[in-house]
Amino acid sequence: MRRRKLVAGNWKMFKGPQEADVLAQAIKRLVVDAPAVDVAVAPPFLSIPAVVARLKHSGVSVAGQDLHPEAQGAFTGAVSAEMLRQAGCTYGIVGHSERRTLFGDTDEAVGKKVRAAFRAGLLPIVCVGETLPERDGGQAERVVIRQLEAAYAGTPPDQAASSIVAYEPVWAIGTGRTASAEQAQAMHATIRAWAAERFPAFVAAQLRILYGGSVKGGNAASLLGQADVDGALVGGASLDPEEFGRILSAAAAVSG
Ligand code: PEP
Repeated sequence: MRRRKLVAGNWKMFKGPQEADVLAQAIKRLVVDAPAVDVAVAPPFLSIPAVVARLKHSGVSVAGQDLHPEAQGAFTGAVSAEMLRQAGCTYGIVGHSERRTLFGDTDEAVGKKVRAAFRAGLLPIVCVGETLPERDGGQAERVVIRQLEAAYAGTPPDQAASSIVAYEPVWAIGTGRTASAEQAQAMHATIRAWAAERFPAFVAAQLRILYGGSVKGGNAASLLGQADVDGALVGGASLDPEEFGRILSAAAAVSG
């Protein structure tokens, strides 16, 4: 089955509303050249309304960088999946390694966020990935499967099929160190095999698995050319429209 590539830019804690609007304008111009590819951006919460307004009818979707599992309540500083949906988001990133390591998101918390995303009508982008000691210790696959099991607990097959997994080896995020295309493909194949075992066959066939970790214009083509790499979650390079444009062009080229 042919899966449409998805390239998603995670802007992290960069770009307030006005700067975000400028970046969104630049990205809107880029996507005209890449109609064969799905494109999404994840601005900081505060900048989401400006970016949604700017990208209306452009085909570029907007994602929240995180979400709270509850729909509403006394959770100071938090934003729910329902609020993201109301604001015009399509996707919600959950389980990013920065959330796991800096904000204490556990595997179970990520599972709650996945269920909350679906409750609100958002598609979760579920981030998984091992640390360098875990990889060096031969634990990478075990860690990723553990994270997936917790994230997808209680998720019915049709929802799982529409979700997105982002494999992001922690040692490659923001470090300039990228997994080789072979390393990425091997883990993506493991993730798809997990989905095939855990769910009915259509889930593994439809599930889009993105690679994330220092993706740039120069390495995008070889990563995105792998059979089980269905797109990219891009951090740093998504803040530079030229670089992001190169990644989109690479994705469009391998999409034929
Ligand atoms: C990320 O934060 O999801 C990411 C992949 O960052 P970078 O591309 O900067 O490594």
